[in-house]
Amino acid sequence: MTDAGLDQAFDKVRSLLEGDLEHPGLTLYDLRQLVGYPEKGDGPLCYTLPEDPSFHGVTAVRFFYYPRDPEITLIVEIEDKQGKRHLRHFRWNGSGWTAPIGFKGDLLATRESGSSHGLLEIAGDFYVGYPLEEAEGLAEYIRRGEAAGNKYLLCPRDNTRIFYAPSVAAAGLACPRCNNTTLLYKTLSFSNPEDRLDQILREQKALRVALEELMLYLKRKLGP
Ligand SMILES: [Zn+2]
Repeated sequence: MTDAGLDQAFDKVRSLLEGDLEHPGLTLYDLRQLVGYPEKGDGPLCYTLPEDPSFHGVTAVRFFYYPRDPEITLIVEIEDKQGKRHLRHFRWNGSGWTAPIGFKGDLLATRESGSSHGLLEIAGDFYVGYPLEEAEGLAEYIRRGEAAGNKYLLCPRDNTRIFYAPSVAAAGLACPRCNNTTLLYKTLSFSNPEDRLDQILREQKALRVALEELMLYLKRKLGP
C-alpha cells in the first residue's frame, strides 16, 4: 500500500538531514539547538517539527535526541494518519548521519507486509510477511535467546537469516542480499553450538556491511 503523504514526509526529512541544493544538512549542533540541549537536561529530548506543506499527509514528525546513548544519537519518528509511528535511527559520525549497526536508517517509507511479501530488515535479519510490530517483537525474542524452535531460512552464501510468517510460502523466497534461491531450512536452537557460530558469522557480516556503508558515505562526503 502506497501512502503518498508518508513518502512526502520522508522525502522532506531526508532533505533536512542530508541537505539539498539550498540548505546544508542538519548537524548535531543544529539538533541540540532544536531540542534545547543542554538547558533542558540530558534527555532524551524531543522536538516536533513545525507545520510544513510536506507534512500535510502525516500527523507529526518528531526528532528525539539521545545525548547519553553511545549508539543512537537521533531517532526520527514520523506518525502517519493512522497513528502508526515510523522510526528511523541515526548516529552522528562527526560529519553526517549514519544508521547504527543493526538499525534501519534509510529515509524511505516502510512498505508494510500485509498479505504481500513485505520484507523488513531488523538487526541484520530479514522478516517476511510480518507486520512491523510483530517482526520487531520476534527480533527482540531472538536477541534474548527466547525464540528457540522458530523456523527460518539460511542463505549459505552470506549467512543471511530470513524469518517468515506462517502465511508465507517459504519455497518461493530468495535471499534479499544475494538473490540466492537455494536456502537452507533451519530451526533456532540456542543450545546448538553451530547456531552460535552462525550467529557470530552473521554479526561479523552485518558489521562488515555497516563499515562498507560508512566508507562509501565518507568517500561521498569527503571526495576521493
Ligand atoms: Zn544470500
